[in-house]
Amino acid sequence: MGKILVFAEHTNGKLKRSSQELLQAAAASGNTVVAVAFGSHAGDVTAALGHNGASEVHVVKDASLDAYNPEAFTANIAAIIGKVQPTIILASASSTGKDLFPRVAARLGVGVASDCTTLTISGDNVTAVKPMYSGKCFATVNFENSAVKIVLMRANQLPVAAADTSKTANVVEHAAAAADLKTLIKEIVKGASEKLDLTEANIVVSGGRGLKEAANFKILNDLADVLGATVGASRAVVDAGWVGHGMQVGQTGKTVAPTLYIAVGISGAIQHLAGMSGSKVIVAINSDANAPIFQKATYGIVGDALDIVPKLTEEFKKALH
Ligand code: FAD
Repeated sequence: MGKILVFAEHTNGKLKRSSQELLQAAAASGNTVVAVAFGSHAGDVTAALGHNGASEVHVVKDASLDAYNPEAFTANIAAIIGKVQPTIILASASSTGKDLFPRVAARLGVGVASDCTTLTISGDNVTAVKPMYSGKCFATVNFENSAVKIVLMRANQLPVAAADTSKTANVVEHAAAAADLKTLIKEIVKGASEKLDLTEANIVVSGGRGLKEAANFKILNDLADVLGATVGASRAVVDAGWVGHGMQVGQTGKTVAPTLYIAVGISGAIQHLAGMSGSKVIVAINSDANAPIFQKATYGIVGDALDIVPKLTEEFKKALH
């Protein structure tokens, strides 16, 4: 049995569900679980890391690591890997994970499997499944001759049990490693509609060209407010400038796997399906009964979204509040 290093992502000290998934999967494998967290709020997340299975936590509480910076994160994670000497590294296939870990893999000369949807850990061996060609086929990935095996998992793919608050972790603090910075983050501007990162959301309500105009996203925001959902979009409406690119779901946008995905006025092009077909329940609202989205939908409503969505919002309000 070796050590599994989990790269913990958090929002201002609140551990992301995707990291909880990884910690619990690592702990269930019987390996020693070591977590690493960066940023000035990293100290706030150490208890949660212990509750979810880490026995040792490495933190670099440095404000230079509050926002993702490729050079700074690569230098710091490489320093921690050098100290921990893990056999397996688990991270989320978030935009940070997908940018950071190929750099780390190249630096260490080891393999990385990105965007995986299933994970099996047996001793020091890892097998992961990753969708390819927009989910048209699946590759089973094993590692050979790789001293460290890096797996990046999509969020919402692994179960999360209640955290065990009796478990604690030893915390090791490090000073930030020196890095040759080529980029500097000056400001992060968050999209107004993005309450919770799309990739983390349990319910996503997405809108497409069937909404007719940008102003009609209001009815999606109203529905999302009642359901506690995050609003997404198809590329057609992002390209039209109705909403920001951060909201795009699909092959060239974000991959989501919520419990409930409501597609409103979205045709269901293969590139859109690539980003949401892993959702547990899909509800489609479309005026065209032959729209391809209905082939993927668990439940379908044929009709005018501008008429149906406000009625749904009213009914959910009555039922939930
Ligand atoms: P449309 O295809 O125009 O569909 C609108 C739908 O609304 C129709 O089904 C229509 O029946 C319905 N409708 C119309 N009026 C109403 C109404 N009143 N009420 C209810 N329904 C109504 N797309 C993505 O989404 N994400 C991606 O990441 C992405 N990446 C791409 C990458 C590449 C390389 C390429 C080539 C394309 C990509 N696309 C992506 C674009 C994709 O092919 C589609 O063009 C896009 O998804 C269509 O968006 P849409 O469903 O909103 O619009």
